[in-house]
Amino acid sequence: TIVGLGLIGGSLGMAIRRKQLAHEVVGVSRRAATIGQAKRRGAIDRGTTSLEDGAREADVVVLATPVDLIVPLAKRAARAMRHGAIATDVGSTKGAIVRTLEGRLPNGVAFVGAHPLAGSEQRGLAAARPDLFDSSLCVITATRRTPRRALRMIRKLWQPLARRILVMDPSAHDRLLAAVSHVPHLVAFSLVNAATPRELRMVPPSFLDATRVAKSDPDLWDDILLGNHAEILRAMARFEASWRALRTTLALRDRRALARLLRRANTRRRSLNAR
Ligand code: NAP
Repeated sequence: TIVGLGLIGGSLGMAIRRKQLAHEVVGVSRRAATIGQAKRRGAIDRGTTSLEDGAREADVVVLATPVDLIVPLAKRAARAMRHGAIATDVGSTKGAIVRTLEGRLPNGVAFVGAHPLAGSEQRGLAAARPDLFDSSLCVITATRRTPRRALRMIRKLWQPLARRILVMDPSAHDRLLAAVSHVPHLVAFSLVNAATPRELRMVPPSFLDATRVAKSDPDLWDDILLGNHAEILRAMARFEASWRALRTTLALRDRRALARLLRRANTRRRSLNAR
């Protein structure tokens, strides 16, 4: 059962159905129209607007809503779930969610956190794609309290969908994501805000490339940023040091130091096996 049939929930349903990883995929949405659309797009076999009805018979319930709703909806879903069933999520932050839910759900329901590092600045079912996770990493969280059977089950769910699975502690996840996702989003938001309206009317492709993620939904992102603020502030301090180093070389017109910093970034960026 997938709760929240948006970009990630809808794509997950499509991928699970395409690879026949479940007998049945049930979708839970607030709106009947979304359920109809999800069925037409092949994301679910059937759907319901009742969280409890969707959760009741599920082996696995995946929370794919905005991060702030994951904890309350998981608690509500668990009250209706079978003993021994598993709840999991796809949220972009992990520390607080895993701390609050792991080992604390009723009915013997286990919780295992997950975060597929896939997606885009788009949102909603209309942007969902069955191949969204094909070349992605998926982080699955494990702590001393994670039941091994549940961890194996969530691994088994993601293994055929993602290119690679990384099992890590939720705080290690939040530290990593602060540096490679959350601060880059803040930089993009900030670049756009720093430009004047007149400048924004004449932007070159480099500006569009560097700021694509500023088109991400503000309502999803304020939750993510506030939910991981401590790690983000630490990662921002590292970014500011790197930014200051560039600024200093320019202020001093130090061509050699500037070239060294640019070459270092160029080599590191080219070594990434990515776009
Ligand atoms: P999205 O496209 O906006 O989808 C969110 C879904 O949650 C929508 O279908 C929305 O339903 C549903 N929802 C909202 N409130 C609900 C409620 N009270 N009960 C039931 N459903 C509710 O967002 P998304 O990008 O898929 O993000 C979902 C999760 O994935 C977030 O936790 C995010 O951190 C995580 N994530 C996102 C990305 C990314 O790149 N976007 C990548 C990895 C992980 P309606 O259609 O009815 O509004």
